[in-house]
Amino acid sequence: MAVPKRKTSTTRKNKRRTHFKLSVPGMVACDNCGEMKLAHRVCPECGHYKGKEVVEK
Ligand SMILES: [Zn+2]
Repeated sequence: MAVPKRKTSTTRKNKRRTHFKLSVPGMVACDNCGEMKLAHRVCPECGHYKGKEVVEK
């Protein structure tokens, strides 16, 4: 099995990891009930979307 000849330094490791950072999902408050929900999605609490359209229930 191939084994790395040198230890990966902290700097090199950190440089490699600049790309993967946490991406926070876009959360917004629902217009109808005020619950936090994912943006551009129907509210799971009340089934509203864009103000008044009832999509569920
Ligand atoms: Zn809602």
